Amino acid sequence: MNLVVMKFGGTSVEDPAAIGRTAAIVAGRVAMGKSPVVVVSAMAKVTDQLLRAAESASQGDRTGALAISSRLRGRHRDTAVALVPQTEEQKALLKHIDEKFDALDEVLRGLAAILELTPRISDLIVSFGERISSQIVAAAFRDKGINAVHVDAREIIITDSQFQKAIPQDEIIDKKVPEKLLPLVSEGKVPVMGGFIASNEAGLTTTLGRGGSDFTGAIVGGALSAEAIEIWTDVDGIMTTDPRVCPDALRVKVISFEEAAELAYFGAKVLHPATILPAVRKNIPVLVLNSRNAACEGTRIISLAPHCNSPFKCIAVKKKLSIIDVVASRMLMTHGYLRQIFEVFDKHKCAVDMVSTSEVSVSLTVDSNSKLPEIAADLSKLADVKYEGKKALVCMVGEDIRGQNGIAAQVFNAIRHVNVRMISQGASEINMSFMIEEDDADEAVRSLHAAFFQNPDPAIFDVEARKQVPVNN
Ligand code: ADP
Ligand code: ASP
Ligand code: MG
Repeated sequence: MNLVVMKFGGTSVEDPAAIGRTAAIVAGRVAMGKSPVVVVSAMAKVTDQLLRAAESASQGDRTGALAISSRLRGRHRDTAVALVPQTEEQKALLKHIDEKFDALDEVLRGLAAILELTPRISDLIVSFGERISSQIVAAAFRDKGINAVHVDAREIIITDSQFQKAIPQDEIIDKKVPEKLLPLVSEGKVPVMGGFIASNEAGLTTTLGRGGSDFTGAIVGGALSAEAIEIWTDVDGIMTTDPRVCPDALRVKVISFEEAAELAYFGAKVLHPATILPAVRKNIPVLVLNSRNAACEGTRIISLAPHCNSPFKCIAVKKKLSIIDVVASRMLMTHGYLRQIFEVFDKHKCAVDMVSTSEVSVSLTVDSNSKLPEIAADLSKLADVKYEGKKALVCMVGEDIRGQNGIAAQVFNAIRHVNVRMISQGASEINMSFMIEEDDADEAVRSLHAAFFQNPDPAIFDVEARKQVPVNN
């Protein structure tokens, strides 16, 4: 069947021109004899705006919340009109958009009366972004001759009830996704569904966490045993670091699942951290591609990447972290003490990124600032606790870092002017990370990039692109 799951991010569906490019890319795959299943995000920035509307309504600012919704309604209607000129189809699409925004306004009015924003209501509100964008994209595809059919992701992506970060129920999904999608594909149709949104077994709307459309793409690809999962975004692929921070960043042509997972987990926004799991399960290659530059071959994520002569493949940064120091000289080495500390984090469902212990203290880093006061209160029953925000974790990823003599010295020499708080060399052998002040992060990344990507291995990195960059001086 040559099934390919194609996920398009917010910038790939941000306006009529972007949706037009996306349609051309999908039509190209169909012409190649592929059977695409398309997963789309909300139009760029819509999720943020919906969250702002929810926040305003919950603070009693009903007018402000409805004004945001009204602007969004206008943007979606304008996009629909530009993309679907035929009267009947356009009328049906506009009716659909209006119905969705009417429903959203009702929720916002209710929220402005109740003044309490629960994770469940938040998920319901943000879900409108993907619910509406996927309808517009499906209609636009049909207008361009693609035999597209809209599918409500919430019927097939079933999760638990952890709103805002729901966990997919693989067994149910593995049954529902093929049951729903394969008959459509075998009739020559192209299913188009929203990413990020799902529902629990009771049918309530949930979401997979910010950036979760990548995860939906991978879940669907896994459930269908697709031949590839394509993540279409606004950069040429996985780059050696965030190109917004370091314009010198190079495209990584090929990377292993393991390396990509580390990168995503440690902050490279280009991929949602859970995306790799369903692909690994079925050994399905993941491709990261640029919808603005479809001719570029992107990044191929595969189980075993070829050997790389450069020590590192990428530098990722996770910002907005906090560091917690737990100091208890008497108890540190006593049996069960660390377990007690971790139980506190577990109780608050707070993931710990990095841990280091000394004779008298344990330092941990977490990315959940809002829960910190409660966590600190619980920890203070065990020991003295201090915490500090505005930290960043820099993570250098590359195969066999441990095998390279003197690599740590080279890393810290490159950023000798920066104060490093915590260091960890991951048990996975492919990651070396350290914690610094958030304000130093961008500069540190640029220094590290300059030090380690001077002579990149042309088998792994797109060095040609660097040669083509015009020099402006
Ligand atoms: P989408 O809306 O398509 O899901 P995202 O904004 O979530 O796109 O992710 C793409 C962005 O990720 C890029 O524009 C880039 O700024 C950022 N990014 C961070 N680290 C990297 C990296 N190592 N390689 C490529 N992009 C990165
Ligand atoms: N729209 C969601 C977000 O902005 C999901 C996604 O784009 O992947 O987080
Ligand atoms: Mg994303």
